[in-house]
Amino acid sequence: MACLDLEGVLIPEVWIAVAEATGIEQLRRTTRDEPDYDALMRSRLELLHRHGLTLTEIQRVIGALEPMPGASAMVGWLRERYQVVILSDTFYEFGMPFMAKLGYPTLLCHRLVVRDDRIVDYALRMPDQKRESVRRFHQLRYQVIATGDSYNDTAMLGEADAGILFRPPAKVIAEFPQFPVALDYDGLREQFERASERLDGVKDGVS
Ligand SMILES: [Mg+2]
Repeated sequence: MACLDLEGVLIPEVWIAVAEATGIEQLRRTTRDEPDYDALMRSRLELLHRHGLTLTEIQRVIGALEPMPGASAMVGWLRERYQVVILSDTFYEFGMPFMAKLGYPTLLCHRLVVRDDRIVDYALRMPDQKRESVRRFHQLRYQVIATGDSYNDTAMLGEADAGILFRPPAKVIAEFPQFPVALDYDGLREQFERASERLDGVKDGVS
């Protein structure tokens, strides 16, 4: 199986785009800057509340975004070779517009709690969802190659049979030297092929 992070691997960082569209600079912080996801989300929700931003306004920004150039072809290449699941810490309310643009791959992520068009809270599917998903796939006897760009992916990469960092920040590379790094989609294809050769039967989800 191929397990992919979404933001930073296939699509731009949604919160950075919202920061740019709204001029709220503090929304630029991502999991690349703050490893504590709950602390990050609490500060985002507090900022949205303070500036009175509605879900509709945020979805308008998101609707105008495109996947990264080459992302759709990358997903297509993977789907010909693996069972593909996107494991993301985003929310369905933000992620689904991108799924249409990526040919509707499977997306496992969280949900927002919305009241009167205001995001009042968020509901994690479970703590450490990315890593737990890989563990469950292992229990189903799948081998997993995973890729992600940031701190919130490293547990998933470590749990997978092979983990690949995609365009990570320098400090993530320095802290996790055990993972190979791909800088573009050609490099990522190469790393998937290399990992597949090493792992027997990962292609087609057969193990
Ligand atoms: Mg990411």
